[in-house]
Amino acid sequence: MKPIGLFLGYLAVVAAPLALAWASGTPARGFRDEVASGLGLLAFAMILAEFVLSGRFRSVSGGIGLDATIRFHQLMARAALAAALLHPFAYGAPYAPAIAGDITRQHTLTADFSLLATGVVAFLLLPTFVLGAIVHRHLPYTYEAWRWMHGLGALLIAGLLLHHSVYAGRYSGQPALMGLWVALVAVAGASLAVVYIVKPLAQLRRPWRVTEINAETPSQWRVRIAPDGHDGLRYRAGQFVWLNLGHSPFSLAEHPFSISSAPNGGSPELEFLIKELGDFTSRIGSVPVGARAYLDGPHGTLTLDRGVGVGLIAGGVGIAPLMGILRDLHARDDPRPVTLIYGNRTTEKIAYRQELDRLAAAGHVTVLHVLSEPPPRWDGATGLVDAALLRQAFDPAALATWDFVICGPPPMMTGVQHALMARGVTSDRIRCERFQYD
Ligand SMILES: Cc1cc2nc3c(=O)[nH]c(=O)nc-3n(C[C@H](O)[C@H](O)[C@H](O)COP(=O)(O)OP(=O)(O)OC[C@H]3O[C@@H](n4cnc5c(N)ncnc54)[C@H](O)[C@@H]3O)c2cc1C
Repeated sequence: MKPIGLFLGYLAVVAAPLALAWASGTPARGFRDEVASGLGLLAFAMILAEFVLSGRFRSVSGGIGLDATIRFHQLMARAALAAALLHPFAYGAPYAPAIAGDITRQHTLTADFSLLATGVVAFLLLPTFVLGAIVHRHLPYTYEAWRWMHGLGALLIAGLLLHHSVYAGRYSGQPALMGLWVALVAVAGASLAVVYIVKPLAQLRRPWRVTEINAETPSQWRVRIAPDGHDGLRYRAGQFVWLNLGHSPFSLAEHPFSISSAPNGGSPELEFLIKELGDFTSRIGSVPVGARAYLDGPHGTLTLDRGVGVGLIAGGVGIAPLMGILRDLHARDDPRPVTLIYGNRTTEKIAYRQELDRLAAAGHVTVLHVLSEPPPRWDGATGLVDAALLRQAFDPAALATWDFVICGPPPMMTGVQHALMARGVTSDRIRCERFQYD
């Protein structure tokens, strides 16, 4: 779906409870009370929408990219938290027993703690939950354990808020809005079920086998997998999958990796370049050939459009998806000029060096290696990938018409993106993918 369609869809979902409350014909109260109720309705709707913004649905992240989807998810989580925290304090009406004859509770808020309790618990859980997500990398849990907690915690909060809204809310207790909440909670629950039950079930029927695991550089592994009893994966060069090596598809032991092979490369095997980083990637070398693998994918929008030339800019393991694009261009005999700028710290860290040399010698690509810690007799570029190097690699005609694909450490990507845009490259001709979220 197009970004504008997604955004309008999101607005429609989060505004629907407000619209139903407004249309319910319930007598209005003072401004503060209406704003307070509105904040509660908005916060709950935004929290439920978060379930489908987890980045696993191609209909969502396929339109705007995983990066933008996750950033939006994170931003909206903070906005929902702010609305939820303001909600109970914004009211002007007192929390007090109902006044006789005030059937719609126009003048007081319920003071019955059994109805408020679920809201109070959710109110206390929410900041802990959002803060935990922001600092999860510094917590003493594996990424998988954190994902379990994040999914189950979100479901618990949604359940608590459903009870609180329906039983303590002035508008949410009315049939139309109650029906909407139940439907939205069901969609939220179903989205978890799709990720954790439906997709793994589908993966069981399409297993893969590891065919090769070799050290490409001292800290990067070349991993190949082949389809086991099926015809493989249809993907576009530059896309990624969630890869599960050696575990049940129902386990959360899966990680996103870009595909470095080419869809038109003549083999259904997929290749990945995996850099040692944490608990899973550091043990990748011990995975035996023949091990079972499962995939969720393809995902990602790091794919080429039809510019008249292609500028590929990689830092470190960011070469993985760009290698897929490069191999694909070569496999399809694409006549467009291609330039690859590839930054690394040292020569030992350069992956696919011989293949790149071969492609360059055959005239398929101009390769510019950049090293920040060059050896004594290095005659290539040195330092970081910066504006000066981009000027050297791409002339004004290229900057005006080529497509650019960037993948590497976040500061490098931000710097390159700004430098390209400062020289007139329009944002629609720049594709980026981050390997890590803040
Ligand atoms: C779209 C995308 C493509 C990627 N492509 C590659 C690639 O081609 N080659 C490569 O070496 N690395 C790639 N990565 C990064 C790779 O996923 C992480 O390095 C790897 O998951 C780390 O796992 P770990 O257990 O070794 O480290 P941990 O210490 O567990 O994790 C380190 C960090 O990696 C991220 N991470 C870990 N597990 C997951 C997960 N299941 N889902 C999302 N993020 C996770 C988290 O930010 C975490 O804080 C990619 C990441 C993304 C988002």
